[in-house]
Amino acid sequence: MRRLAILGATGSIGASTLDVVARHPDRFQATALAAHRNVDALAQLCLRFRPQLAVIADPACEAALRERLAGSGCRVAAGPQAVLEAAAGSHCDTVVAAIVGAAGLESTLAAARAGKRLLLANKEAIVMAGRLLAKALEDGGGELLPLDSEHNAIFQCLPPRHANLAAAGVRRILLTASGGPFRGRTSAELAGVTPEQACAHPNWSMGRKISVDSATLMNKGLEVIEAHHLFDAAAERIEVVVHPQSIVHSLVEYVDGSVLAQLGNPDMRTAIAYALAWPERVEAGVAALDLLKVARLDFEAPDLATFRCLALAYEALRAGGTATTVLNAANEEAVAAFLERRLPFPGIAQTIDRCLNAVDSQPATDLDVVLDADLTARREAQRIIASL
Ligand code: NDP
Ligand code: MG
Repeated sequence: MRRLAILGATGSIGASTLDVVARHPDRFQATALAAHRNVDALAQLCLRFRPQLAVIADPACEAALRERLAGSGCRVAAGPQAVLEAAAGSHCDTVVAAIVGAAGLESTLAAARAGKRLLLANKEAIVMAGRLLAKALEDGGGELLPLDSEHNAIFQCLPPRHANLAAAGVRRILLTASGGPFRGRTSAELAGVTPEQACAHPNWSMGRKISVDSATLMNKGLEVIEAHHLFDAAAERIEVVVHPQSIVHSLVEYVDGSVLAQLGNPDMRTAIAYALAWPERVEAGVAALDLLKVARLDFEAPDLATFRCLALAYEALRAGGTATTVLNAANEEAVAAFLERRLPFPGIAQTIDRCLNAVDSQPATDLDVVLDADLTARREAQRIIASL
């Protein structure tokens, strides 16, 4: 029996994870569920899945959650420290890191340090602090399995035990991108797009932040950095290919000319079920892929001049140190401002570009350096957003 702590249980990844869990009560048990401030959704999940521990990150919501769960036998805890406890406590052997944004960094690190099997959806954590996460995993002796569909696909296409990509005979990693809702548009056409349009993804149903990231292609930029850390791949070995059908989830090219790909319908439950059951496989409730209905698979180069965020992510990766922390922080601030209609869509890339130029990169030696870079970048991004 796998005992799971699901951090970000009320979100899109949380819902897909719990859907797979509910299909296999003999294999998976949710022992802790955590959310930010959505008391209603968290209470409902707790009454259904009966975890030992329910955590609400916002202390102001503690009383409401206690009231909802009175008599349920579920222990209630609140505040950021309680989220760390949910990630590292003895109630779980596996942690699903599905909090959105930098808010998930410390709990992801805590799970790694505690030697849990870490199922990572929270890509911002690895973008902010990839080196620190690798160190925490090494110290804790646990393992990381990627939930992000592209990285999950690559994981499936790599040999099970290999020292490094060169030893495995890998030439390149090819990350596929849907291109998002604005694929094919010109810069002029993007000037007035709204949050509603940006969040209407053609193939995937996801939280609002990652939906905007998909629309700017920053999601792919974050994923390039994520792939760099997960697979120890230099930026030159990671290529992005736009594939509008979202059926091929990513590919690995070998030196002999073989290219292995993982295909499937765009449904996160496939990647989640794979990581939950690894090295076995379980039913995920996903419809069989009907290749005749899909009929064709298209591939094209990303338009880096219009979707500058992807180019900025490569720049930050090449700069190294805390540059990717700055990139992530500026992006989070800019996306929030866009969603609140304080910033036009093209302002997202402008904010990140200016912020990368304004904040110097430092070697990311410890958590304090990373958190300091994050804070400095957010202040700078706010200043830039106000000026745009
Ligand atoms: P959602 O916005 O749907 O959900 C976010 C979750 O995080 C909610 O449960 C929210 O709680 C919780 N949360 C937010 N802030 C905090 C906090 N400070 N402390 C504790 N919990 C918090 O996001 P998604 O599920 O779409 O994405 C989650 C992560 O997974 C992101 O990093 C995203 O990039 C990644 N990912 C998502 C994919 C998808 O298909 N959705 C695909 C690949 C990666 P509350 O409900 O209370 O606000
Ligand atoms: Mg992805």
